[in-house]
Parts: sequence; structure tokens; C-alpha cells
Amino acid sequence: MKIYADNAATTKMSRAALETFVKTAEEFWGNPSSLYVTGQKAKEVLEQARKDVAEAIGAQPREIIFTSGGSEADNQAIRSAAATGRNKNRMHIISTAFEHHAVLHTLRKLEKEGFEVTLLPVHENGIVDPEELRAAIRPDTCLVTIMYANNEIGTVQPIKELGAICREKGVTFHTDAVQAVGHLPIDVGKQNIDMLSASAHKFHGPKGVGFLYVRKGIVVSNLIEGGAQEKGRRAGTENLPGIAAMAEALKEAVSGMDENAARLSALRDRLIAGLSKIPHGALNGDAAHRLPGNVNFCFEGIEGESLLLLLDDRGISASSGSACTSRSLDPSHVLLAIGRVHDVAHGSLRLTLGEDATEEQVDYIIEQTAQVVEYLRSFSPVWRELTQGKRQFIL
Ligand SMILES: *Cc1c(COP(=O)(O)O)cnc(C)c1O
Repeated sequence: MKIYADNAATTKMSRAALETFVKTAEEFWGNPSSLYVTGQKAKEVLEQARKDVAEAIGAQPREIIFTSGGSEADNQAIRSAAATGRNKNRMHIISTAFEHHAVLHTLRKLEKEGFEVTLLPVHENGIVDPEELRAAIRPDTCLVTIMYANNEIGTVQPIKELGAICREKGVTFHTDAVQAVGHLPIDVGKQNIDMLSASAHKFHGPKGVGFLYVRKGIVVSNLIEGGAQEKGRRAGTENLPGIAAMAEALKEAVSGMDENAARLSALRDRLIAGLSKIPHGALNGDAAHRLPGNVNFCFEGIEGESLLLLLDDRGISASSGSACTSRSLDPSHVLLAIGRVHDVAHGSLRLTLGEDATEEQVDYIIEQTAQVVEYLRSFSPVWRELTQGKRQFIL
């Protein structure tokens, strides 16, 4: 059996998105900034995509800036709010310890440029407490940036409450919603969101394209200097095939969202129940407030990397956490943030199901994971010490 269970790393393009991509490249290859008909036809496709994307999150078309993906959108949102903050002498930013590196590394750079950053704790359940946000906001806070849903442990934040607190205190609220867009219902108005980042390849669109929503009235600065595209907020000839395909994928994701979420949540819970039977393992993050397809476990006495390689041999594509850090030997900063100790964090497994997952596949994953964990433990020195009582079990 071949099972792709790493949809948090990237998703396969949908048939409709792929067809839109090809059709747009073939028929609308003009430059949207050109004044002749070929250019203007491309411009129409661009603006229709902007309308469709805006509608999917309850925004106005002029509030959408197309970018090269989630990382660029995060960088632009944070840098823009920081620039505005600096002008007003407000140089304090609040975020959390388990953000994506596109956020954390941008914040680290801003610290070197004189900003002060507070990272809120996310607790064992992987969820930020709104009251802790309220307490952390200062008169000089210019930005709060908190991810909508975590890419490793799938936990979903109380975005509306967090946004309401920011609104009340007059602080700009950005959310990295890359894992949520196309998977969870989003309404930027009702949820008090000022800025939001999204990426097409996380909802069956193409790679290298995404968008940043910026509420009307909030000043954004551009990261890329050049032409006047995107109303001067993002230079460069637009990636029209990618943008049109993203809009198509998003429309599709939104129209099937309720049904997919219900089916996937049931499969997710079946997978969690099955993996919970493996001794000395534990689910990471809250069981209920999590993305429909996300399962993340730690198993004591094993290395996550070995587990992945052996699962791959058995046809299962999984991950130990974030794809971006899978080549480093450091344990996941997300698992450390929720209080897992190094040894336990090393034995992590992230399985993120796609819309086409089946019960049969889930049962196969459970069976194979149980076998591989037992096999790896059979020659693990750490496991021997645990079973001989020379080391204490944590899970
Ligand atoms: C994938 C991801 C990103 C980066 O998006 P790219 O389009 O790959 O740059 C940022 N944040 C989160 C939460 C992600 O999952």
C-alpha cells in the first residue's frame, strides 16, 4: 500500500487547479500590466482570482496581495507592522514559541534591529491562553502575530478571542493561517484579523504562490522593490498561472470543506485511538482543537528519523515534524515549546491525512507503526535502560 500522509508539508495539486494552471499559461500569457488586449485579458484573470480569494476569507479584493507563498507573506506582514511601529516609537512585538520559522526568524532579525519580542507560552495542550496575551500587551506593542493552526501538532488557536483583545488594545493582529486556509472556515471580519498569510500548496494549489490579506487602512511596505504591481506593494510580473490555480484550488477547498473536515476528523480520531494503544507513547497537542487531518505522537525509546525511514519502506510517507527542519538533528522547537523533553521530542511522528484517505489506509498505518516501534525498541539502548529501571519512563 502507498499512503501519502504528509499533507502538512505539501499537498498534491488538484485536477481542477492543474487544469486552470495549464489553461492560464496557454491562453492568458500576456503581461497584466500591458495596455493591449492580450495584457488586459490577463489582468481580468488576475482580478477574478483576487475576487475569488477575497471571498473565500470574507475580505475585499483590494485587501489581497499575491505573494510567492506563505514565507513571503509572513515576512511582509511582520516587517510592515514593525516599520509602522518604529515610526510611532512602538517597538514591542508579541508572538508564540511555536510559530513557523518564517515568523520566528523574521522576529529574531527584528530583535537585532532594536525590537523587543515576547514569546507567549503555548502550554502542554499547544494552545495560547487569551488572558496571557492580554497581560503581555504593553503601550508600545505594535504587533501580535500568532499562528492560526500549528503545522506540526495541528492545534487550532482561539483566533477570534485573540483578535478581539488586540482590537480592544489597538494593536495590529497578524495570523499565519497557512495550515488553516482551505481547511477551516475563516472570516477575517468576524474573527478580528488584521493581516493573514496563506500558501496555495497547502490546499492543493501550486507551490511558489500565496497571498497576504491586509485589512484596509493598515499600511504595508513592500519587501521587493521594482514595478507597481499589486498597487506598489509587491513588485514583479505576476505569476498568473499560479495565482489562477490557487484561486481555483481555494474555491474547491471551501466548497467541500464541511464534508471533508467531518470525514477527516473521524479518520484522525481513529488513527489517534489506534496509535494510543502503543505503550509509552502520547499524542502531542490538544485532541479536540486540532486540524482535521493532523496526528502527532511521541514514542519513548526510539528515534523519529528511523521510524520514518522504516515506514517509508512500508509505503507510508510521514514526517517527524516540520519539513523545513527534518534535515537538522535538533528536536522540534514546537515539541519543546509544549514541554516535551529532548529525548521524548526525538521520537516524534507526524501523520497528516489528505482528503482521499480511507479507513483501510488508517488501519494499515496503525498496524505498521506499532510493528516498527516495537522493532526499533528491540535494539534501542535507551529502551533497554527504561525497561531495566535505569531510566524513568516519562510517557
Ligand atoms: C508551509 C508553511 C509556511 C511556509 O509557506 P511556503 O509557501 O512554503 O513559503 C509558513 N507557515 C506555516 C504554518 C506553514 O505550514
